[in-house]
Amino acid sequence: MAEQFDVVIVGGGQAALAASYFLRRTGLTYIILDNGAQAGGAWVHGWDSLHLFSPASYSSLPGWPMPDTPDGSYPTRDEVLDYLRRYEARYTPPIRRPVTVERVERADKKFLNILTNKGYFLSRAVIGATGTWSDPFIPDVAGHDVFGGTQIHSAHYRSAALFASRRVLVVGGGNSGAQILAELSLVANATWVTLHDPAFLPDDVDGRVLFERASARVLGETSAPPSGGFGDIVMVPPVRAAKERGALHAVHPFARMTQTGVVWPDGREEAIDAIIWCTGFRPALGVFAPLDVIEPDGLIRVDGQQAVREPRLWLLGYGSWCGPASATLLGAGRVARSMVRQLADWLESPTQNVRLPKP
Ligand code: FAD
Repeated sequence: MAEQFDVVIVGGGQAALAASYFLRRTGLTYIILDNGAQAGGAWVHGWDSLHLFSPASYSSLPGWPMPDTPDGSYPTRDEVLDYLRRYEARYTPPIRRPVTVERVERADKKFLNILTNKGYFLSRAVIGATGTWSDPFIPDVAGHDVFGGTQIHSAHYRSAALFASRRVLVVGGGNSGAQILAELSLVANATWVTLHDPAFLPDDVDGRVLFERASARVLGETSAPPSGGFGDIVMVPPVRAAKERGALHAVHPFARMTQTGVVWPDGREEAIDAIIWCTGFRPALGVFAPLDVIEPDGLIRVDGQQAVREPRLWLLGYGSWCGPASATLLGAGRVARSMVRQLADWLESPTQNVRLPKP
């Protein structure tokens, strides 16, 4: 017999923890299915020197603030991981781990069927919180498959040590590219390749701007806080230091790749040992494909967080398209609060079935 729940959350990173915090208060029955071996979601895979964009006070999940770092600096990857582990220990969300969800499909009018590598579950609603880390995006560049050197995506980059003294291209003008280029430029012959000139936030503006902008959107305010966009580069200390020593110069993309390197638009060939693609991620929505909800652009059309073509499916954490700043720690909490209220109301509405008894 399949276990039955009011809600199943697919994925067990920060978005799932935020949703769990509010779900627990509703009395709805729910579980979290996560294929990670440990707490932390995408943070487990971040590179060794990865820093947050903002201080701990702006990086907290609901209920328990992230402890300040001893010197007030932006928290590191390991400090975020420690926080998420302790957050789980504190609130003991009902996580089953490791469980891989293979597909979500319609069982009948009442239930969605969640098929996993450990059996299947029936649920009246599903929250997708699978993040983006498992779907790294690499552009389709000519010669991509003939290049004989090393190619990795930032999803799998750990530290600069592997690239010491090598000729490396770092491709991508966002925060990942800037942070990785900053540390590689100390040990390697690194060149930064960006589609457009990189946009740096002023030194005194950090990730807090994202949250201020998100809040302004939530409150329906029209006047935007200070300059800077969501993709702009935050001048965390290593990036600022790299800029000061002139290492953050970017060039526009090469025309194609060869067996030994790249060809630039002016026809010049250059030998390259490695390319690190910091070209972003796509939402990991593949498990929801059987619901026929994925649009040609790879996203799921939502009203708030609720999928338009399958109202039993809700989405949290992938990016601003499913809630302002919902891919961030603080933003996930804010969006989860209102989403869970709406989800609970929806499950109790006359058109839906009555709540399941507690097991
Ligand atoms: P994830 O953390 O990816 O969690 C998803 C979980 O679902 C994972 O455990 C995954 O294994 C699991 N999963 C996926 N598919 C399945 C499946 N089929 N079955 C079961 N489990 C599954 N965020 C901030 O808040 N502040 C910052 O300052 C910040 N800085 C960043 C800097 C950089 C350079 C980068 C790259 C990211 C930064 N982020 C920051 C963003 C943050 O790392 C991610 O956006 C965040 O981890 C997303 O959380 P999530 O819970 O949505 O997804």
